[in-house]
Amino acid sequence: MSKTNGNLNVQTENIFPVIKKFLYSDHEIFLRELVSNAIDATQKLRALSSRGEMQGELGDLTVEVKLDKKTLTVSDHGIGMTAEEVEKYINQIAFSGASDFLDKYKDVQENLIGHFGLGFYSAFMVADKVEIKTKSYQDAPAVHWTCDGSPAFTMEECKKKERGTEIILHIADDCKEFLEDQKILQLLRKYCRFMPVPIRFGDETVWVDSETETEEVDDGKGGKTTKPKRVEKKQPRIINNTDPAWKKSPSSLTDEDYRKFYHELYPMNFEEPLFQIHLNVDYPFNLTGILYFPKVRKTIDPNRNKIQLYCNQVFVTDSVEGVVPDYLMLLHGVLDSPDIPLNVSRSYLQSDSNVKKISSHISKKVADKLEEMSKAKAVSGQQSADSKTEEEDNSQFSILNSQLAEKWDDIKIFVEYGMLTDEKFCERAMKFYLLKSTDGTFTSLDSYREKIAPLQTDKDKVVCYLYANDLDEQHAYIAKAKAKGYDVLLMDSVLTPHFVNLLEQKTEKTRFVRVDGDVVEKLIPHEDSIPEKMSKEDQEKLKPIIEGEVDKQRFTVMLEPLESDDQPMLITQSEFMRRYREMAQTSGGGMSFYGEMPESYNLVVNINHPLVASVLAESDGDKQKQLVHQLTDLALLSNGLLKGESLTQFVQRSLEMIK
Ligand code: ADP
Repeated sequence: MSKTNGNLNVQTENIFPVIKKFLYSDHEIFLRELVSNAIDATQKLRALSSRGEMQGELGDLTVEVKLDKKTLTVSDHGIGMTAEEVEKYINQIAFSGASDFLDKYKDVQENLIGHFGLGFYSAFMVADKVEIKTKSYQDAPAVHWTCDGSPAFTMEECKKKERGTEIILHIADDCKEFLEDQKILQLLRKYCRFMPVPIRFGDETVWVDSETETEEVDDGKGGKTTKPKRVEKKQPRIINNTDPAWKKSPSSLTDEDYRKFYHELYPMNFEEPLFQIHLNVDYPFNLTGILYFPKVRKTIDPNRNKIQLYCNQVFVTDSVEGVVPDYLMLLHGVLDSPDIPLNVSRSYLQSDSNVKKISSHISKKVADKLEEMSKAKAVSGQQSADSKTEEEDNSQFSILNSQLAEKWDDIKIFVEYGMLTDEKFCERAMKFYLLKSTDGTFTSLDSYREKIAPLQTDKDKVVCYLYANDLDEQHAYIAKAKAKGYDVLLMDSVLTPHFVNLLEQKTEKTRFVRVDGDVVEKLIPHEDSIPEKMSKEDQEKLKPIIEGEVDKQRFTVMLEPLESDDQPMLITQSEFMRRYREMAQTSGGGMSFYGEMPESYNLVVNINHPLVASVLAESDGDKQKQLVHQLTDLALLSNGLLKGESLTQFVQRSLEMIK
């Protein structure tokens, strides 16, 4: 072959500046593109060889990335290209592909910050001259192709002896960072960490046992012993794991293997995942991957340890918005699918039907897994210490000692978030969602309703679910409710206000009320009310006396007939106002009106209590005021609302009264 000069098959003269500009934010992907081309070429060779279409030794197939003063080289021992193939794949097809692409997306340039591959030509994002030296596995002369960034190229025969392709990038002056060892190492680790052919980048030094030298060491028993000397050894630095766990068959992996892989994925995370789902689908789309459930405690932070998306073991992105439902972004792990279109903008991705199918498949798998765990008995001895079994019959399985109950505290928020944001998941989860009572017992939604219905149905036939969100702060209220035979749930997640709303919508004739939402007699209003011991006239006199002593902005005084051995005064907070306030705080947007409302409380005065009667009976004005103060402060105190100067005054006043 004599030297050929030619023009690349492009319509636009100045495509290179365009490539550079368009892909500015993503320059670094050139390395991913070139290395995956090298891997593809190697895989193709392996396939040909295994089908007997290629004779001879495969030899070492390691792909190599090398840095020199001014060049970066990616070389492989794959199938290589003949002159005709270079003409076809590089001069014509690849380039027209790139220009088509740019033509098509001219109008949506802003969207192009997404991830897509420009293949071989992405090399021109960082290089002002690119050379290809390639020799095909077929018997044909090797080819040397050069292009300096204009549509003109040269092509000539060369002396390359080894089969395979070398892509040499003469790095442009404004891209010098791609000549730095650390930068390239970081990029290889990001994009190529699980590619299926070994990739070498330079050498590394490791410590190994010497084969020839020995040394004396303490044997731990006061004597000496000889063992091989530890010596430094230089070896090729292979930057990838060619056989990542998600590609293996689930039956060949132990829990330990899964955990190890988790730490390989997230070397900076020292927490253990709770459990995992291994995805392995080949119809109607292709998807593999492992999703790990991390501990989700009080906060929802999907920004650490994000799910990584791969396309045939090539890292694509770790921003999976739109690929998986929002709540699943709380999970960690990898997804690998050739069916997710990667070379398009994000909005396109979100409307893609394959992506939708994949996303609902993942949701379904997650629900399957949780349901399965709700039916599987917990690994004995690992059940959380505070969870008691309802029926003490251990021989019989119940949801209370299921694997789900065992992990519930750590994944509850995840389930709640899923139920709030994904209708289908919600339907499934209604069957396995666990309510936790303040005594640590777990119950499914259905059996809980059955359990509380006899005592906790109000006069309108609505079943009232009582809940607390702080065992210490609401201790007195919980104790009172329990004394009446009620059960109190512990619902303490950031999503609780939204979540109880959801449960009210999903279950007919249901009302959730926080245990401090009203006096215990009125939390669940039954027909029988307590008779009033104070006359209406006296009540009218009493009310302004008390109102005169409290901050009316914050407290609404309410006179109620309670048991006479109940507290004389207590503080409650309307369920409705409190819940909407809290929801506004965690959701923003249209609800801000509620968020801006001042916190307000009810001061409930027990008109049947002798001390309250004595307020009215007190003729000395000062003493009367003092008594009212003391009673309101006691109510505030038991709610944790008495603070600062008021608290100091209370202590002072109490001391004086004892004197
Ligand atoms: P794509 O990889 O998406 O097909 P590219 O522009 O990256 O597009 O490459 C175009 C073609 O050039 C490839 O399909 C392949 O046939 C050929 N090619 C690129 N790199 C190599 C390589 N290292 N070895 C052999 N062939 C290659």
